[in-house]
Amino acid sequence: MKPTAEYSQETNLIQLGVGVDERTGAISLPIHPSATYRHPGVGESTGYDYTRSVNPTREVLEAGMAKLEGGARGLAFSSGMAALTTFFLHFSQGDHLVVSEDLYGGTYRVLDQVFANFGLTVTYVDTTNSAAVANAITNQTKALLVETPGNPLLGIADLAALGQLCGERKLIFAVDNTFLSPILQRPFEFGADVVIYSATKYLGGHNDLCAGILIAREKELGDQLYFLQNSTGAILPPFDCWLLLRSLKTLTLRIKRHCENALIVARWLEQHPKVTDIYYPGLERHPGHELSCKQASGFGGMVSFRVESDALARAVLKRLQLISFAESLGGVESLMTLPAVQTHGDIPEAERKRLGICESLLRLSVGTESVEDIIADLEQALA
Ligand SMILES: *Cc1c(COP(=O)(O)O)cnc(C)c1O
Repeated sequence: MKPTAEYSQETNLIQLGVGVDERTGAISLPIHPSATYRHPGVGESTGYDYTRSVNPTREVLEAGMAKLEGGARGLAFSSGMAALTTFFLHFSQGDHLVVSEDLYGGTYRVLDQVFANFGLTVTYVDTTNSAAVANAITNQTKALLVETPGNPLLGIADLAALGQLCGERKLIFAVDNTFLSPILQRPFEFGADVVIYSATKYLGGHNDLCAGILIAREKELGDQLYFLQNSTGAILPPFDCWLLLRSLKTLTLRIKRHCENALIVARWLEQHPKVTDIYYPGLERHPGHELSCKQASGFGGMVSFRVESDALARAVLKRLQLISFAESLGGVESLMTLPAVQTHGDIPEAERKRLGICESLLRLSVGTESVEDIIADLEQALA
């Protein structure tokens, strides 16, 4: 293989897998479905024994993600939840975690309804308030898990301040970077120890793949997480690894377009008379705007907004034509959802109300279609 260290991140992404198969020189990485491999002799290995442990297609994806993020080890899972679950398995009974309250609903569910049964305790805090995070830390606290921008209200946490806090208190600092991707935000530069992705979203980018990624900054933690991946087995299958590798080649281009479209859509929604609140970090009025400019190189493609009434929110979802009323985000196709009922339905109602996730709040994943078409659809749906 040619040395790649001197290339830009964008080039490295496009070159993922190119020429790895030296026998054929294939540009597109071969998919290796083989579950098992011949041993040359007793106690000898080609480096490939059994696909759960190592797979030649998955290892290119995992190494590529580690390099892209600037970490020691990358791991690919069958979903974002599988990646998060494997991260949580790193902890033991009695351990305490501090977690963002503006959080993906499934992460809340697995902590609240699965890991609670194993004695893992969690405090949910407003991680846009670093002092609140510091106050939530106890002697049992082992890690901080942050989503920034938050979901669905897109609050911005101060990664540098939280990284410093975790360093001082010897906590594992984990960032779910799903909303921005490594193109826009690089948590390791702010002291994060683990970066987590639902690759179902921007990394996959076409609403046709469910996958998750964990990347550890240090080899030691990476090896411990690999032990858990291999022991519990929620690996990403070879075909899906190939699909994700193919998607990553256009990640830079797609993210650029998502950002451009989302800013135009957010500005349009901002002036709409039936839109009462708008949440997009790219707007100057957003409380996290300045922080966002400091720690990320773009604002992403997610826009949340409140409309006049719950009834109007429901009507908008019914009237949409181009934009699909569907869960998920980060694909080239624009999607809209009602977080209170869909993605965040598992968060108790009182808690949702306190957070402001009411039934007039809509979350739009701005796709890469022509922005005029997206706006025309919003215009007719809001009429
Ligand atoms: C979707 C999502 C997850 C869960 O990922 P899956 O791939 O659906 O399992 C976790 N975190 C965030 C921020 C997400 O948007």
